[in-house]
Amino acid sequence: MRIPFIAANWKMFKTVQESVVFVKQLRSLVKDASNVQVVVAPPFTALHAAAEAARNSQVGIAAQDVYWEREGAFTGEISPGMLKEAGADYGIVGHSERRRLFHDTDETVNRKALALVAAELTPIVCIGETLEERERGETLAVLDEQIKQGLDGLTGEQVASIVVAYEPVWAIGTGRNATPEQAGEAHAHIRARLRQWFGGDAAERCRIIYGGSVKPDNIGAFMALPDVDGALVGGASLDVRTFADIVAKSR
Ligand code: PEP
Repeated sequence: MRIPFIAANWKMFKTVQESVVFVKQLRSLVKDASNVQVVVAPPFTALHAAAEAARNSQVGIAAQDVYWEREGAFTGEISPGMLKEAGADYGIVGHSERRRLFHDTDETVNRKALALVAAELTPIVCIGETLEERERGETLAVLDEQIKQGLDGLTGEQVASIVVAYEPVWAIGTGRNATPEQAGEAHAHIRARLRQWFGGDAAERCRIIYGGSVKPDNIGAFMALPDVDGALVGGASLDVRTFADIVAKSR
């Protein structure tokens, strides 16, 4: 039995103060949603304050990215240990905006995922095809490559406890969500590959969540799919009531 996992990716939105206000409201709005894991990913600057505001609640905290080294001359980067000390439980890696704008590759995504696991943080590994790749009929092959390289070196036991986010790039921030059929096909394929490469236990326990224009009025259709275990929510996560509504409708 996989517990639904609903995460808010705030991207480069919200100050420290706005983050704290949001988390305080969210923890009270979702306090009765016991069978769902709720996570928010604030900007780095607000991580610690958000984690303090979430203390002793069911709201978990994720970083939006990480660097794989422990410390050193890497100006602008943040290590897994620093994230952990600031109060993060999870780290998003491989978001399509990182891949497109900041040149993350499957290889760097892999290094980041391994570093998070080594620091006992849970990676949320984002994968997904571009519109051109979908139109060329390459979606499943692209996902294969991203899974194979991105999760390389993880054990079945480790894969069982990570989160994989299927986010078709063309559906992110566009208002154009994947259809349930498209999401269902991709999620079933991802789980089949996890079974093939990491074993049945890893495939059964790993949460595979959908991202791409999720809103209160479409979360139900995604959650009804057998291989969709939750959502990574961008735009619709910036308003606390809308996000809490998505959490409520995910169960
Ligand atoms: C995202 O940023 O991961 C995302 C899915 O964004 P949106 O919900 O705005 O499409």
